[in-house]
Amino acid sequence: MSKGKLFVISGASGVGKSTVLTKVMQANAHLKFSVSATTRKPRAGEIDGQSYYFVSKEAFEEMIRQDAFLEYDAHMENYYGTPKAQLEEKLLECDVILDIDPNGAFRVRQTRPDAVLIFIAPPSVEELERRLRSRGDTDEKQILVRLDRVQWEMEQSEKYDYIVINDKVDTCVEEILQIIKKYE
Ligand code: 5GP
Repeated sequence: MSKGKLFVISGASGVGKSTVLTKVMQANAHLKFSVSATTRKPRAGEIDGQSYYFVSKEAFEEMIRQDAFLEYDAHMENYYGTPKAQLEEKLLECDVILDIDPNGAFRVRQTRPDAVLIFIAPPSVEELERRLRSRGDTDEKQILVRLDRVQWEMEQSEKYDYIVINDKVDTCVEEILQIIKKYE
């Protein structure tokens, strides 16, 4: 029987989700982060086993065959998935945060209807475009693909339990902590 509550957090790329999540984790010691597996290449500063498990396409497809994922998705030409065993193990001890996209979030909701879905939105799409460009690690074609996706992600946000706007990081962090606290 799992002890912890599952929180699923999504946000448009470039919305500052990883900064927010790092601060949320630092502020609440009873939360654990579910590390996804992905076939995408690590970005500067990302650590294997902490940010993601960086695996080959072959290894990922083998995990699919073994039914090792709670959910998985292919986007931006890469696979991303939530390893089931690791998540169950963490839930035995404490609350867990999943950082996954809307497709994944809705699939999790089907298998775990008690999961709490939180969407981090940018103050505006223009602001998000500015942030994406200033990140400097994505080429123009990728930026346009991501902006297209942002539009779709924003539409999905209506189906979440909570929408939190990341205008000021600390306020956004505080709002998420308050939501989590409601379920203690
Ligand atoms: P990024 O490549 O910027 O780290 O992530 C791209 C997208 O993949 C983000 O929307 C992120 O939330 C999503 N993502 C990360 N891990 C998973 C996962 O395990 N499952 C699904 N469905 N999406 C994921």
